[in-house]
Amino acid sequence: MAHIENIMVVGGGTSGWLTAAILARKFHQNPNRNIQVTLLESSDIPTIGVGEGTFPTMLNTLQYIGIEESEFLKSCQATFKQGIKFVDWLKPPSGDQHSHYYHLFNPPVLANGVDVTREWLAYEKDKPGYSYAVSPQAYICDQNLAPKRVDTGDYRWKTKYAYHLDAGKFVELLKRFATENLNVKHVIATVGQVEQEPETGNISAVVCEQGIRREADFFVDCTGFASLLIGKTLDSPFVDKSDVLFVDKAIAMQVPYLDEKQAIASHTISTAHEAGWSWDIGLKNRRGIGYVYASNYTSGERAEQVLRNYVGSQADNLDVKKISMRVGYREECWRNNCVAIGFSGGFVEPLEATAISMVETGATLLADQFPEDENAIPAIATKYNQIFKLRWEKIVEFIKLHYCLSQRTDSQFWIDNVKSTSIPKALLEKINLWRYFPPVENDFASRFEMFTLASYQYILYGMEFKTELQSAYLSGTRKEVAEMVFSKIHEQGSVALKDLPDHRELIETLNSSIR
Ligand SMILES: Cc1cc2nc3c(=O)[nH]c(=O)nc-3n(C[C@H](O)[C@H](O)[C@H](O)COP(=O)(O)OP(=O)(O)OC[C@H]3O[C@@H](n4cnc5c(N)ncnc54)[C@H](O)[C@@H]3O)c2cc1C
Repeated sequence: MAHIENIMVVGGGTSGWLTAAILARKFHQNPNRNIQVTLLESSDIPTIGVGEGTFPTMLNTLQYIGIEESEFLKSCQATFKQGIKFVDWLKPPSGDQHSHYYHLFNPPVLANGVDVTREWLAYEKDKPGYSYAVSPQAYICDQNLAPKRVDTGDYRWKTKYAYHLDAGKFVELLKRFATENLNVKHVIATVGQVEQEPETGNISAVVCEQGIRREADFFVDCTGFASLLIGKTLDSPFVDKSDVLFVDKAIAMQVPYLDEKQAIASHTISTAHEAGWSWDIGLKNRRGIGYVYASNYTSGERAEQVLRNYVGSQADNLDVKKISMRVGYREECWRNNCVAIGFSGGFVEPLEATAISMVETGATLLADQFPEDENAIPAIATKYNQIFKLRWEKIVEFIKLHYCLSQRTDSQFWIDNVKSTSIPKALLEKINLWRYFPPVENDFASRFEMFTLASYQYILYGMEFKTELQSAYLSGTRKEVAEMVFSKIHEQGSVALKDLPDHRELIETLNSSIR
């Protein structure tokens, strides 16, 4: 292989079309590297059809691809997401009493960048509600307010946000945009066989059931859990994480709003149940609700009953979609001339909506360091694989943190989740350290970790984790300064509540003003 001149993305789900769009944006009409991107997908094998919560990275990704925010909002029934509200994770509900906390996108810092957690730990920790004390965004979410005003501007915010979106419509938008504006070629066919060069093992072509044979210099495996190229063909080992993260099945339903005035939450609601948790995502036209559960701890029938109980009478005539998940990742997401992005490269449960963001990172990294020719592949692939292994491991640790701090003992699922044998060693070491010193930036050594200080603070102190403060840490804090800081944050919250519009109202206004 001389120069790499064409890339074949196999698979047309969210990961396939996002990857194709990001690569094509980089290489289409690029005078230095004009590479043709083709996407091949099967019309017989459906996409997963879920994946409605995103990460704030999505704003940059959409801007990079060249999609206007207004077009995205309208095409995808999209809404704003300011974080995740975790309900019943700390304790099981008692009657109508539910514990909750937020993992917000706004970090717990003041405008001047000063982290207020130290003051909170020193003087406020006995009052529950870390997320309310350290950021006005918790109050904004409680009131179902939007993170911006109608005049704030595209991709700009008053409080940090990501999106909720309709997965199927997002794929349609990306497909339309990539084929019409970025010259991505689209082939519909089902791959039956993969050809490899005998000497190198590189993939040379895919042969489809429809008699189509397509060659390419470089392949991206976006075939979902089938992992047709990276798994079945190139045999990259799968690192199973089901001993740490127990959930392996999901059921989902699309629930209409009661009426056109029903509030749209501007955050994802994640509610813990006996053998897993449910997501509740408000789009413009409906809610997407599902229960992610561990099949070793509950039956499919019981899981469906839990989901229907959560939704209430609105679920009566609705069907559920059943999904199996494989939790873990490929030891090498990049092998030979093939990179796996999306489910084919790995998946851990959707608790923190990490999967689509991993696709964005994978595709962007690939585009930024795309090899000129075959000789450059080994060095770039080694680095890529190191980054992704680290990223997966750290995501697994962060997700596990949500479970292992729980005080729930109402089912075997929760009892087993706090057993130290199920907690990764690196996470256990950190938790032990944080019993004496709260987390600091230096605890997160790599810039490739997806979740760093602020996220850990929200989960730890939202889950009422106890840090026995050492005097060295406390020196320099002053009660009166702390009181001033927290009353200022509270004041900012009051101003924001008056300043920001209702979330549904803003979404409807933005949609009606779009040409
Ligand atoms: C219950 C659940 C909830 C989730 N929630 C979130 C969330 O809130 N946020 C988030 O970021 N992520 C979430 N995810 C993950 C998210 O859904 C996926 O990351 C995303 O949809 C990407 O999927 P994919 O494109 O890799 O695979 P798929 O959607 O499965 O697409 C696979 C594609 O490959 C094609 N294909 C397969 N075999 C062949 C073949 N032989 N020939 C040709 N084509 C083939 C198929 O036709 C299809 O087009 C969730 C996942 C689950 C299971």
